[in-house]
Amino acid sequence: MAEGFNVEIISKSQIKYPEECIVCGRNANGQKGKVQVGPLDMNMAFSKKNIIEVPMHKRCSTKYKLTFWKRYGFIFIIGAVVLIALIIHTDYDSILDRLINRIILIIVLSVVLIPILVWHFNRPLPIECEYEKGNYIFTFNNRSYAERFAQINGSKVEKRNY
Ligand SMILES: [Zn+2]
Repeated sequence: MAEGFNVEIISKSQIKYPEECIVCGRNANGQKGKVQVGPLDMNMAFSKKNIIEVPMHKRCSTKYKLTFWKRYGFIFIIGAVVLIALIIHTDYDSILDRLINRIILIIVLSVVLIPILVWHFNRPLPIECEYEKGNYIFTFNNRSYAERFAQINGSKVEKRNY
């Protein structure tokens, strides 16, 4: 099972980062990459306030973004497919059939899709950040990075199982 390492930081404090790139672990040479702060809803997605800058090579940042959007893009596509399937499906059925078909469709989709989704979320990203009740909760996939990050910010690391 994959593990992530959580570090909680009060959002008011100035967050400090180790000098190394969060993705590859080598010196970032002052380069920075953007990390979207979750939870990802419409307000968050288009707000500049919810983006933090962390030490990351430009190249690593591209790689990171790709993984991030692969994960959320995938969920969006599934949602769209399910919606379209439900709409098309209901056009030519009686109400009772429609209900039964819908239930069957949902069951089939769940059986197929849930393992795929679980698999996607089982792989922690190099860094993830969530905002919760005035605190930032960072999750790293690299334990030593998480420990250094926690240390310079006066916080501690908590293990999180995926
Ligand atoms: Zn890097």
